[in-house]
Amino acid sequence: MRYISTRGVAPTLDFRGATLAGLASDGGLYVPEQWPTLSRDEIASLAGLSYPETAVAVMRPFVGDSLTREELRALCEQAYGRFAHAAVTPLKQLDHDHWLLELFHGPTLAFKDVALQLLGLLFERFLTGDTEGPLTIVGATSGDTGSAAIDAVAGRAGIDIFMLHPAGRVSDVQRRQMTTVLAPNVHNIAIRGDFDTAQALVKAMFNDPGFSGRFRLSAVNSINWARLMAQVVYYFYSAVRLGAPERAIAFSVPTGNFGDVFAGYVAAKMGLPVAKLIVATNVNDILHRALSAGDYSSATVVPTATPSMDIQVSSNFERLLFDLGGRDGVALATQMQGFEASKAMRLTNLQHEGAASLLTSASIDADGMALAMRWAQEQANEVIDPHTAIALAAAREAAVDAPMVTLATAHPAKFPEAVERATGMSPALPGRVGDLFERQEVFDTLDATFGAVSDYIAERATPRG
Ligand SMILES: *Cc1c(COP(=O)(O)O)cnc(C)c1O
Repeated sequence: MRYISTRGVAPTLDFRGATLAGLASDGGLYVPEQWPTLSRDEIASLAGLSYPETAVAVMRPFVGDSLTREELRALCEQAYGRFAHAAVTPLKQLDHDHWLLELFHGPTLAFKDVALQLLGLLFERFLTGDTEGPLTIVGATSGDTGSAAIDAVAGRAGIDIFMLHPAGRVSDVQRRQMTTVLAPNVHNIAIRGDFDTAQALVKAMFNDPGFSGRFRLSAVNSINWARLMAQVVYYFYSAVRLGAPERAIAFSVPTGNFGDVFAGYVAAKMGLPVAKLIVATNVNDILHRALSAGDYSSATVVPTATPSMDIQVSSNFERLLFDLGGRDGVALATQMQGFEASKAMRLTNLQHEGAASLLTSASIDADGMALAMRWAQEQANEVIDPHTAIALAAAREAAVDAPMVTLATAHPAKFPEAVERATGMSPALPGRVGDLFERQEVFDTLDATFGAVSDYIAERATPRG
């Protein structure tokens, strides 16, 4: 299996190369050269498999020669062995038509663990015996990616991680899940600024030839293909439990960077019968406007109770536009450069109509979110997190004649204030993170300047070999 860039210029890589690179050198994102497919019989035969076995069957074609089947199986068993539920991603029925797919049973209580637990092991495996020097992971987080990435790489040989979070703007649970991990390769930096500022500093370091020439930088956010690949698995795992391939299944996905829902698109491309994919956004609705009216133009971010969806540029949307637009890297590069210059663009007819055959979208406001939280509680005695509630509200609005699975992306205890406001219930942290508030925190606070942050990292990271 080879990976090509959505912008057509960067070198073609194998799975190992695409995983270690993260972003393509032409500014594009890596995608498989073609979509592998599973036959109806192959999908039917997933029905009795455990989660790790399903993961091997679904991911095997993407991995190519980079890992043997046995190596992949061992990594999946190790990654998913750390989940607190034996089913890894269990389904819960809410009423006759609606299910929740619980993706938050990993160590840091959000769905990011499903992909990042595996990615941490892939990094370690691919770096063994490699002579190019250790990997320096630099990232910015509004909360969930940072804690999941830190948990996944803490203590691993050949990797240093520097995670920037906006000082005072992540929840206490989110911050403590990062800053109480005391492994020597973990470096937490609180930035005196907002998330956009932190993200801009990270981009500046990747784009600075002096800095990126000195260190072997890599990325852990969902621009990394391996993350999306790992997320395709739970679409298959849940669908076969609800009757696929005989029945088509619909999914509603709370969406920010378009990574999770793109994994559902990939599942459909691989042959899974998907009745509909609902792209659920909060009031930051760039994706809803793009999919309903072809208008992809970014507005100012409004802070909401669902911070992981408060974004104005959805990185992975580029992968969808590439695939729907005939996989023309040169045309897409022109389209994306236009967007980067003017912060607005129109989808082509091919892209817009192609999307409409599988995807619908909805924008849900604070009232709609609170209503969905109360419905889940009254209907099924389920306390759900605000992100999940956005998707459940969209699922209940949609007129789709198929079993409807809402992706539950975070544990409600990660966002206790919003849950309590809507339902009057204050969700308790699960036992596995129980002493989070007694543990020692370590982090440094820095000014939001390139000099302050790059000096800090340069003093602590290991240069290329
Ligand atoms: C990251 C995140 C999302 C958004 O997922 P994308 O893949 O960025 O679309 C939704 N909910 C929660 C809880 C998250 O952490």
